[in-house]
Amino acid sequence: MNAKYVFITGGVVSSLGKGIIAASLAKLLQARGLRVTIQKFDPYINIDPGTLNPYEHGECYVTDDGAETDLDLGHYERFLGVPTSQANNVTTGRVYYTVITHEREGAYLGKTVQIVPHITDEIKRRMLLLGQTGKYDVIITEVGGTVGDMESLPFIEAMRQLQWELPEGDCMCIHLTLVPYLSAAKEIKTKPTQHSVQQLQHAGVMPDVIVCRTEHPLGPELRRKIALFCNVKPGHVIESQDAWSIYQVPLNMHAEHLDDLVVRQLGIENFNQPDLGRWKDFLENLQNPFQEVNIGLVGKYVALQDAYKSIQEAFVHAGAACRCKVKVHLFLSDDITADNVAGKLSGMNGILVAPGFGERGLEGKIHAIKYVRENGIPFLGICLGMQMCVAEYARNVIGWVDASSTELNPKTTHPVIDLMEEQKKTTLKGGTMRLGAYECKLTPGSLAAKIYGSELIHERHRHRYEFNGKYAADFAAAGLVASGTNPSTGLVEVVELPNHPFFIGVQFHPEYKSTPENPHPLFVALVKAALEKNARG
Ligand code: GLN
Repeated sequence: MNAKYVFITGGVVSSLGKGIIAASLAKLLQARGLRVTIQKFDPYINIDPGTLNPYEHGECYVTDDGAETDLDLGHYERFLGVPTSQANNVTTGRVYYTVITHEREGAYLGKTVQIVPHITDEIKRRMLLLGQTGKYDVIITEVGGTVGDMESLPFIEAMRQLQWELPEGDCMCIHLTLVPYLSAAKEIKTKPTQHSVQQLQHAGVMPDVIVCRTEHPLGPELRRKIALFCNVKPGHVIESQDAWSIYQVPLNMHAEHLDDLVVRQLGIENFNQPDLGRWKDFLENLQNPFQEVNIGLVGKYVALQDAYKSIQEAFVHAGAACRCKVKVHLFLSDDITADNVAGKLSGMNGILVAPGFGERGLEGKIHAIKYVRENGIPFLGICLGMQMCVAEYARNVIGWVDASSTELNPKTTHPVIDLMEEQKKTTLKGGTMRLGAYECKLTPGSLAAKIYGSELIHERHRHRYEFNGKYAADFAAAGLVASGTNPSTGLVEVVELPNHPFFIGVQFHPEYKSTPENPHPLFVALVKAALEKNARG
């Protein structure tokens, strides 16, 4: 069978959850035995989101191969349990960069380089790339942005061309729109959907299926109306009501026959019904917790939920695994002081100190870590959170009062966290951190080795600074031990406090690998430790 292509566009407003619809459809097709991947085309000029503040588009997600990508790739991996890669996220910036580099190399000598065909050819090449690997039956492509935006026009044009260039029946378009409810008129309105489909049609693309985001059921009349005005078959108008969990959406989409429509439309001879047994078990556990814990997430981007998306989701997975509702409380680290820390964090059964960059809010993180260390509260520090637990220990236990990371205080007399050797030559900011999956060897018998149930692990990284190995013996003598190191470089990746009930800092990002079907052991262990702390009081 040829690789089949499903394009997903969005209309009316942004934030409709195209990523979740894409991931849900992919999950259903995967559960029918098909090999599926999802890719996202983003219309901004940045080469990747690595240089963006999380307040712009939410967290930056990192893949095994070290790509800094849109957070939707996190959803793709969480739903499918299959790693994505650099090829799964393409921005306008990356497309232009390739074309302009080719132009400078003389690849188009004599020709005027234009949006059509040069930019659209490069978009099409990238849209087809994963399909040509032979590894997938279906490639779902999410086109970022909203139809009608100037930025996404070249992507839509590339889709239009592909609809004619690919063999008949190998490609289809699903359009996701908003069908708002006007409470004053007590009416559901279809006009914005009609207009956004018209915009798509102006660009030469006919949607095959329309998925309507709605707060209320549409009913057969409205479905017929949308089908009539938007030029699709009545059965091809799908309702997507707000769900209690994003993980419920695949089941809702199956109930609406989205996967049936797609296999039929693409001529896929696959009559299996999706096998969603494990997924349903997870949902069952998620919906019926026996207990509850409160976890504090201390960070500096707490005003936007999406800034710590993978961490939040990892707690959802770990909670379901423990049949426990994990209530995540966000604490802005800037607000935490030595005087208010006990009051602020007192009801918490566990604390996670988040990754981050720059100086703002750092002292607050250090106060929070001192409090949990001294009070036997379970602690997990991720990346900057790990680095700060090292600085806190140096300052408050060893007595090196100005100990810090050189990222924050280049003049510190005790640079316990320092720039990695390979980073010293780097001046460019984009894509230059230590990125992607690396091996880590755990000390037998350590808390880390017990949690993982293994002594060799692979975790993803995104950082420039690192534990300064020069001080490892001083820390170990004072009680903070390095229990995980990179076997080829010797870099310290995990630290822990054996004389504390649960205190562990990791230089890598475990949150990127947690999925509903494979919750991450570090998050599960933190939730369990928090439950024990809750029971102990
Ligand atoms: N700013 C720190 C570094 O670059 C930590 C990065 C992070 O938390 N992802 O090493």
